[in-house]
Amino acid sequence: MNIQSKRRTKTRKSKPPRTDASRPLPSKGAPAVFLDRDGTICEEVGYVNHIDRIHVYPWAAEAIRKLNQAELPVIVVTNQSGVARGLFSEDLVKQANLKIAMELAAQDARLEAFYYCPHHPTAPLKEYRKECRCRKPATGMMEEAARRFGLNLKSSFVVGDSYRDAQLAFNSGAKSVLVMTGYGKGEYEHRRKSWPRMPDMLAENLLDAVEKILDGRARPASHSRIRTKRKR
Ligand SMILES: [Mg+2]
Ligand SMILES: [Zn+2]
Repeated sequence: MNIQSKRRTKTRKSKPPRTDASRPLPSKGAPAVFLDRDGTICEEVGYVNHIDRIHVYPWAAEAIRKLNQAELPVIVVTNQSGVARGLFSEDLVKQANLKIAMELAAQDARLEAFYYCPHHPTAPLKEYRKECRCRKPATGMMEEAARRFGLNLKSSFVVGDSYRDAQLAFNSGAKSVLVMTGYGKGEYEHRRKSWPRMPDMLAENLLDAVEKILDGRARPASHSRIRTKRKR
């Protein structure tokens, strides 16, 4: 993937490899909405090992269109460890991403970029076996996007169907929205007792998530506090 090809592969014992990620992130800049792919934009079907298994949720285009209208860049960040596990090729990931992008574009919904992590730390395929900085909940993909588009991650959002996506938000300083599609409902019902920190928001699906994000931006949390102070 792009991210990896830009990185130096040499590693030293004590110091981490010098990478793009060691450069400071832009602290100003625009907010963005980062979306998980499987279970958030399209159905979670286990590994998408054929593009025929891509089924974009019927509400996804409307949700993304609303973000486009609000001028919030929409960026997909997805773990695709099936590549490292030898289940499908990196090329298939690209084809699947393209299929999603085209299906959405046909409904006037625009995605700014796709980032994916093909790695896994204990994967059978040597070339993809690594402790990378892009596998969620590590923030490599978001950092790369932040540099490329001049984004402020702290005012950004991460929407996903797994707790890993919420952790990605925590790790990057963004706000997290857990959707109840894909693994979301099951994780929330059966796993949340073990979560050290709750997601910032819960949503039925991507469209509900977007409406909550836009609603929250229209009425920032500080607004009510300011008003209460003035009232006295
Ligand atoms: Mg997912
Ligand atoms: Zn990776």
